[in-house]
Amino acid sequence: MSNSSGRFGIHGSQYIPETLMNAVLELETAYNTFKNDPDFREELSRLFNEYAGRPSRLYFAKKMTLDLGGAKIYLKREDLNHTGAHKINNVLGQALLAKKMGKTRLIAETGAGQHGVATATAAALLGMECVVYMGRVDMERQALNVYRMRLLGSEVRAVDSGTGTLKDAVSETFREWTNRIDDTHYCLGSVMGPHPFPTIVRDFQAVISSEIREQMLAVEGRLPDVVMACVGGGSNAIGSFYHFINDPAVRLIGCEAAGRGINTNETAATISTGSLGIFHGMKSYFCQDSYGQIAPVYSISAGLDYPGIGPEHAMLHDQGRAEYVPVTDEEAVQAFEYLSRMEGIIPAIESAHAVAHAIKIAPAMDPDRIIVITISGRGDKDCAAIARYRGEDIRE
Ligand SMILES: *Cc1c(COP(=O)(O)O)cnc(C)c1O
Repeated sequence: MSNSSGRFGIHGSQYIPETLMNAVLELETAYNTFKNDPDFREELSRLFNEYAGRPSRLYFAKKMTLDLGGAKIYLKREDLNHTGAHKINNVLGQALLAKKMGKTRLIAETGAGQHGVATATAAALLGMECVVYMGRVDMERQALNVYRMRLLGSEVRAVDSGTGTLKDAVSETFREWTNRIDDTHYCLGSVMGPHPFPTIVRDFQAVISSEIREQMLAVEGRLPDVVMACVGGGSNAIGSFYHFINDPAVRLIGCEAAGRGINTNETAATISTGSLGIFHGMKSYFCQDSYGQIAPVYSISAGLDYPGIGPEHAMLHDQGRAEYVPVTDEEAVQAFEYLSRMEGIIPAIESAHAVAHAIKIAPAMDPDRIIVITISGRGDKDCAAIARYRGEDIRE
């Protein structure tokens, strides 16, 4: 999909300082070697199966299907993975790759703390040192995840620059990597950043669509009509789409966080409201103000409030191959409550954005049509926030 310079159409590539060039080149060379190495692939698939709990189930949501009265709905249960989300797929891949490269130390950025916890988990498992950079504001908001990372043996460092949130943590982690590349790998959390990260992260997450394909063919004897997933940076979505990109009959739908609405300033819907730019080492679409500065973004879902989108999604949007739709906080919260009641599955509020869009489109589709929704994570972490959104104050 990408050429050797890591371009996806006009997007992607490597917009980085000279000082980072050696690090990304070393990573690209190592990745090209190990991705086809039978030992590496076998070790990774053993970790996926025995540690993360793969393959994740493709579950027929019968009650939801009957209730909506249209297309047949299947849920790809990434919420059942160890640590409760799809992020483990990427971090196990990168941590193992780093180890093969002779690195002994992982660094990572985190916003809500989900990627930080996943990285700390992989570091504990593989016996690596780990430092996670986190905006100071986020550390206060996500104290429980800070505790988890420390419990897992990682160090959490506060980032005070900018708004003290995710985008500043990313910048700080790149800065730290520049200073120390000999023993350190930057375990980046989504399909973003300079080449080769968007390709590496996509390949590790592509296990999702490879399983959906196999499982769907086994149960239904055909491919789904629609595959949909929520989009922050876009890793669970590209992982869900990847093995269907060359099947034009399969509609691919990415659900972005519209926050309080795409006509307000409190949104994180990059495709709906953003414009072309260069940030964090890549060309893609970003939420920007009229001066081209990265705009503050907002969503009820901490995992979706990144101000950009991965370059491969930007290309799929340009080509019209995938559709990107905005989903508001209110719609996501309703879907969070709906899936909990209807199927006994509490989805992550991120994943609820995809569920919300399925609720909109399924009723108008014929009953012989099939929708797959990726449930990127479980929603236990969100219960207190959703209760608060509904005006109920519960203590965690
Ligand atoms: C981090 C996260 C996301 C958003 O990240 P992507 O890279 O867009 O997948 C979505 N869902 C869950 C549960 C997450 O933890």
